[in-house]
Amino acid sequence: MVKDIDREGLTIQTHDGTQRLNARTVIWAGGVTVSPLGRTVAKRTNAETDRGGRIKVNSDLTVPNYPDIYVIGDLALAQGPGDKPLPGVAQVAMQQGTYAAKAIVRKLAGETEIKPFKYFDKGDMAVIGRWSAVANIFGAHISGFFAWIIWAFIHLMYLVQFQSRILVFIQWAIQDLTFNRGARLITGPAATDFNFDKEIASSHKDTRAA
Ligand SMILES: Cc1cc2nc3c(=O)[nH]c(=O)nc-3n(C[C@H](O)[C@H](O)[C@H](O)COP(=O)(O)OP(=O)(O)OC[C@H]3O[C@@H](n4cnc5c(N)ncnc54)[C@H](O)[C@@H]3O)c2cc1C
Repeated sequence: MVKDIDREGLTIQTHDGTQRLNARTVIWAGGVTVSPLGRTVAKRTNAETDRGGRIKVNSDLTVPNYPDIYVIGDLALAQGPGDKPLPGVAQVAMQQGTYAAKAIVRKLAGETEIKPFKYFDKGDMAVIGRWSAVANIFGAHISGFFAWIIWAFIHLMYLVQFQSRILVFIQWAIQDLTFNRGARLITGPAATDFNFDKEIASSHKDTRAA
């Protein structure tokens, strides 16, 4: 745990006590928090949240006391095997999305017994450099170019629409051939970011004006 940052470096707390790391440049690259929508839902439903704002959901991914509100993906704090929370990764979000959609269709068809959500862990992957990745697939550890090929194939296949796959493939090829890594940096709000609180505040203003 980082305890202090100053001009000369930072102080960290380890199991063995306090340690000092000297550095003139410190880059803070951790910390994920939920979108404002998550906080609004939690506030209005009085739902329990964790430190990052994730909403604690039932085993069927609904908000406690609200059987018709499903919370999935990064907004949800769902229990996995051994009562550990499921990680905030795409694989979890995608499986939860499919589960919630099916559960809603079944409820509409009059089914009352919906089985709890069960996460199927297919493994982990990460790109660690140019044409290089690490992968842990069903217990098998792969690294290097072969792992990158699998990573690229899986990610392309999960993109919606054939056209998107071709476009992303061309972008990746150009970036890798020209050593241009800038396109992978996120340096500001994403184009799709939506400020829920601001929208709600302005809609209230409009209603009052009317
Ligand atoms: C830098 C980074 C690297 C990552 N790398 C990996 C990785 O290698 N592998 C992996 O599995 N996972 C990775 N993740 C995590 C992964 O991206 C998330 O777990 C996944 O995207 C969660 O999906 P989601 O649908 O819950 O949320 P999101 O993908 O965040 O989608 C939520 C969407 O809702 C929109 N939205 C928010 N509020 C509103 C509103 N009020 N109205 C309408 N729309 C709204 C947002 O704009 C967004 O488009 C990474 C995340 C980050 C930030």
